[in-house]
Amino acid sequence: MVRNVAETAVVYSDEYLRHDTGRGHPERAERLRAIMQGLRENGFFEREFCSLVKPDMAALEDLELVHELDYIRLVERYCRSGGGVLDLGDTVVSKESFEVARYAVGGCLKAVKLVCEGKFRNAFAFVRPPGHHAGAFYARGFCIFNNVAIAATHLVRNQGLRRVLIIDIDAHHGNGTQDIFYDSAEVLYAGLHQDPTGFPGTGFIDEVGEGEGEGYTVNIPFPFRVNDTLYLEAFDQIISPIAEQYKPEFVLVSAGFDMHYTDPVASLSLSTLGYETIFSKILNIASRSCNGKVVAVLEGGYSLSFLGKMASAAIAKMCNAPYSVEDEVQKVSERTLKKTKAVVSRVKRVQSRFWNLK
Ligand SMILES: [Zn+2]
Repeated sequence: MVRNVAETAVVYSDEYLRHDTGRGHPERAERLRAIMQGLRENGFFEREFCSLVKPDMAALEDLELVHELDYIRLVERYCRSGGGVLDLGDTVVSKESFEVARYAVGGCLKAVKLVCEGKFRNAFAFVRPPGHHAGAFYARGFCIFNNVAIAATHLVRNQGLRRVLIIDIDAHHGNGTQDIFYDSAEVLYAGLHQDPTGFPGTGFIDEVGEGEGEGYTVNIPFPFRVNDTLYLEAFDQIISPIAEQYKPEFVLVSAGFDMHYTDPVASLSLSTLGYETIFSKILNIASRSCNGKVVAVLEGGYSLSFLGKMASAAIAKMCNAPYSVEDEVQKVSERTLKKTKAVVSRVKRVQSRFWNLK
């Protein structure tokens, strides 16, 4: 087996910039420009810590791993005829979006295949459009096809894995991903997100999966303005022990960077330092259970001034490169502190039915 010098594959293509959501839309091409500029400025490619890998376009069969053919055809027709708003909400598509969305799926599949084949230890797919709000037959929340869910289904169906862990660290609940795997034990969905009452309306504590999937959905709905310290405590008390017991054969990360305190869309107060530690913890989970096999997939994140820093912090941890994070942990109110403690103890109580949690 040929091993690359670099340990980490960064999957990216300028194709992703062609998905045009129109003026003023937060999910815009500049997000990826900011991320790639950050990674280049920090020298990850020059010093061979990472290799840049181009995606292939996903085939129709790949999309059908998760999505219904009627829905795929609808997206195709809608884009070909010029685009518009796909979901009667905020998921805007342009003429190019069907193709670009297939490159996004293809990028995630490429990342997963490279790691499965042992060509890289881990990978990060920096794709647009994002995916975790999209369901089998619906678009939602800027998402068209569910990139991470297709990658997970590929691992189960085509690679024969029986335990895939998806850790969703976007500020918003991954309703689409949860929906797709709600009755499956082969994919454990763990979502940490802000209070989902307003959007997307799912992701509450008592949503734990059903049938064979009961106990394989974990939701931690944080109160608004939670900070690094509180988030990481919850991660240690709930996510790490569950992952330890589940023993995933592969870890996928729905990596949203919208938990940052400067994010214009979401309402949490994490910092770049928080992201750095979250990635350390996720890598630690993967190294204990599956030889470090992690693929992160970009979801949201709209703070153009911090996206490059957050992505660099994540990549530095993934490829073990030196990188010093400059940011500050935010203070938290007494009220948020109390509410968070209450949420964490309720999640522990509910999940104790399925997992050993202290
Ligand atoms: Zn989000």
